[in-house]
Amino acid sequence: MFAKKLLLLAAAAAFCAQLPAMALETHQTPAVQTQAENEEYELDTTTFHMGTVVQLKIFGKTPEETKRFAQLIDDEVARFDDMMSVHKETPLNNVNKHAGEKVEVTPEIAEMTIEALKIADMTDSAFEPMIGPLVNLWKIGFGGDKVPSDEAIQEAIRRVDHRHVKVTEDNGRWFMQIGADQNVDMGAIAKGYIGQKLAEKLKAQGAKHALLDLGGNIVAMGEKYPGTPWRIGLQSPDKTRGAYFAVVSANDENVITSGAYERNFEKNGHRYGHILSPVTGRPVATDISSVTIVDKNGAKADALCTGIFAMGWERAEAFLKAHPDVHAVLLRDNLKEALVSEALRDKIQTYDPEVSFRFVKQ
Ligand code: AMP
Ligand code: MG
Repeated sequence: MFAKKLLLLAAAAAFCAQLPAMALETHQTPAVQTQAENEEYELDTTTFHMGTVVQLKIFGKTPEETKRFAQLIDDEVARFDDMMSVHKETPLNNVNKHAGEKVEVTPEIAEMTIEALKIADMTDSAFEPMIGPLVNLWKIGFGGDKVPSDEAIQEAIRRVDHRHVKVTEDNGRWFMQIGADQNVDMGAIAKGYIGQKLAEKLKAQGAKHALLDLGGNIVAMGEKYPGTPWRIGLQSPDKTRGAYFAVVSANDENVITSGAYERNFEKNGHRYGHILSPVTGRPVATDISSVTIVDKNGAKADALCTGIFAMGWERAEAFLKAHPDVHAVLLRDNLKEALVSEALRDKIQTYDPEVSFRFVKQ
């Protein structure tokens, strides 16, 4: 199959300072051109949505179809932005604004929240979607550069508990209710949820394959070429962008990473990261550098990699052993050890000779 380059549809509107957890392997043009009916057109775009750089590789049978697919994604992203953005009036923001009341939400918000509550239970709140009061207190990545007082931290901790959240359905309408002083933060799950929904929409409209990258959250839809999966590079945190310690193959899967090297601030020689503990009320003290999850469920992959990152190495290994359905690649903070789920053995290629890879039986 021969991919023709279509014009670049949209230039990057803005660039995010954040280093993507993951970068894509360089695009290769296949050597053989096949018959005309197998030809397809490729469209690569970079835009900025929801505080995130969105990079798309879209393919269609004709230039018109390819552009239609790109437009479809643009429209869907705008729809999710209007539904879930925290920077404007949205149904999700409404839940926080009317904390304590039963608020109507969209089926998508309900579905994502149900998944979030499930992962919060499964990880013992290492992933905690009601972390909002602590996120708003520290403001890490959003101008926060001070350590809050102990009193303020204790006050916020008391308001963090996903067990108070209710999601209910009534005749096809969905409702959500959080505690009166609570605040929901879907920052660790929304991109994974949305990415997968975008891929599903493309597929339903007839697209065979695509690669969607929402700020490092990657959806590999279909295969790269028939019989050849997509290959996703896992970024070495200490090296230049595009230097990978491993590459994983993915076919109709999400490859999502949480890492220490994204948003943080430094004070008195201590680095404060953007993932917080609902127990201590402080940025988690983790000895993990990054967690990558490969899963068909984007929301689950996104939420779990945040939770597993927060657990720290030992607890994370025990968690993987207890959950065979979780397929992960963990890199330790010494950047010398990586732990890989046995199920990924045939899907991972190791690239960095300085990292020793150990497979964990699940
Ligand atoms: P991610 O980049 O997917 O790991 O998500 C990190 C974002 O999730 C942060 O910027 C916060 O908005 C939010 N967050 C921070 N700590 C937690 C936590 N323990 N559980 C769930 N979300 C969190
Ligand atoms: Mg996440």
